[in-house]
Amino acid sequence: MRMGVRHALALDVGGTKLSAAVVDESGRLSARARCAAPHGDDGEALFAALVGCARAALAEAPADLAGVGVACAGPIVVATGSVSPINMPAWRGFPLRDRLIAELAIEPVVIDNDAVGIAAGEHWAGAARGLDHVLAVTVSTGIGGGLVLDGRLHHGASGNAGHIGHLVVDPEGPSCACGGRGCLEAVASGPRTVERALAAGWRPAAGEGADGIGLAMAAERGDPVAAEALARSGRALGAAFASAAVLLDLQAIVVVGGFSRSGEPLWGPLRDSFAEHVGLEYARACRIIPGDLGDDAGLVGAGAFVLAPGTRGSGSDPSA
Ligand SMILES: [Zn+2]
Repeated sequence: MRMGVRHALALDVGGTKLSAAVVDESGRLSARARCAAPHGDDGEALFAALVGCARAALAEAPADLAGVGVACAGPIVVATGSVSPINMPAWRGFPLRDRLIAELAIEPVVIDNDAVGIAAGEHWAGAARGLDHVLAVTVSTGIGGGLVLDGRLHHGASGNAGHIGHLVVDPEGPSCACGGRGCLEAVASGPRTVERALAAGWRPAAGEGADGIGLAMAAERGDPVAAEALARSGRALGAAFASAAVLLDLQAIVVVGGFSRSGEPLWGPLRDSFAEHVGLEYARACRIIPGDLGDDAGLVGAGAFVLAPGTRGSGSDPSA
């Protein structure tokens, strides 16, 4: 690594895996490490696994790191750096920022939601590069979002702006894990789409899973039940994107996440629904584009929290 280039340690904390890498000023990753997130209720075991992952990356990192960026499953408290990821019950109000500072002796440590990390990554070094008004949406097990307005990450009053997964797309629709009803996530997440297909009689082909990948393959082959399940989710996504484009006057909505890679059976109805629901001219100009960074977006975004001015979350040194 050449002299004069700034680097950060990036950590991506998800429900099933922990990953770490060194990020440079161009958003390039090196010294990657990853491990499975331990299950169960032992918060210290989970923290030890994350530190192990971080140290594996640090072993190949330059000595003068500019800080540590962390994209963590939410909810989190941005102001204090404490985290309570819904799918990681071992951490409830866990003081992740303070513990990482004490353990790694690198500052600042900047923590934000994983969906915000993806938005920061795609905005800094991916599909939304050069754009100032962007919503990044993850369509996967859940549906999350991160918002860039006027070129900056927007957190909202409590740090939760951009939660497009809980926009209502069907007021009479299914109940949602958030406590609401008819949310985009309750209709169009990967698991909810698979559930709906199974209830309508779809069964995966031999050797394929009863999951989003199996469903997408069946739809590509012309299975009408699989295709309709994906189309329903695509239409819901398109309607929600139309609402977001109208509300926020966006240049682009960047779509990432495993279930978003379901191909035309999802994307065709999504585009048609967006075009059908978006009436106002300024909102019709909003482009719907796939992300560039794939599963690396969160790590790149965590690097951006430290290295890219204006895209940062809340850090241990707010004046920096
Ligand atoms: Zn909801």
